[in-house]
Amino acid sequence: LLDVKDIRKSFGALQAIGGVSFTLNRGEILGIAGPNGSGKSTLFNILTKIPFPPDSGEVSLDGKPLKSLGPRQIVDAGLLRIFQTEMDFESLTVLENILVSMPDKPGSGTPSSKQKKADELLELFGLTAHSDRLAGEINVYDRKRLMVATAFAHNPLVLLLDEPAAGLSKPEIEEMVELIRQLNRLGVSIILIEHIIPLLVAVSDRLIVLNFGEVLAEGLPREIVRNPKVVEAYIGNQSDG
Ligand code: ATP
Ligand code: MG
Repeated sequence: LLDVKDIRKSFGALQAIGGVSFTLNRGEILGIAGPNGSGKSTLFNILTKIPFPPDSGEVSLDGKPLKSLGPRQIVDAGLLRIFQTEMDFESLTVLENILVSMPDKPGSGTPSSKQKKADELLELFGLTAHSDRLAGEINVYDRKRLMVATAFAHNPLVLLLDEPAAGLSKPEIEEMVELIRQLNRLGVSIILIEHIIPLLVAVSDRLIVLNFGEVLAEGLPREIVRNPKVVEAYIGNQSDG
């Protein structure tokens, strides 16, 4: 569904992504792990071109190359991401954040059908009770859910989730995992960046480990976490799990 071939991105002398290739299959949840600074968020940045495209390489979504598309057109094509830090509109309410994220296709959707769809999204993401609160005033967990909801509101083919469980309590993480599975069952293919390895192992069909901007290992989650190269990369970078 998403085909990534030999993409690269450097910042001056620093090679943040150095020739990464992989495929996300339709219906799949693909996990991405890797030490701090290994290029995970940069990968999402260059796939979506928010804020910058790759220096080189090819990306195609559902057979269509993204090369000539701008960030907005990539969103319309169905490739959506959430950021590692909260990027919703703090001064809009939860409901307003969702409404502004819903595509305005000409001829489709009266205001009342749009409101109905927004209500369904609030329900799905457990945000109904917070509908009229400002996004800047709800807790971290609800903001994470709101960010995923605003991305989901665009009807994505592929969702790129950058550490949706960061900063959450254990029960919240479990609920977030269940939400991710639910979105997947609704037909969305997902790439999930996380530092919490057990979470990745539990939810991913396949796992990729990045290190210094390159794919260190790729395969079945249970096998990847026992891979000596992967174990060593994490011991060499004690800052995370
Ligand atoms: P973390 O686990 O901490 O979120 P990450 O794997 O997401 O890390 P990236 O944020 O992709 O890592 O960063 C990869 C490397 O590229 C780092 O060395 C980072 O400092 C650098 N980098 C990322 N964005 C930029 C930028 N806009 N300008 C310069 N350097 C950048
Ligand atoms: Mg990151």
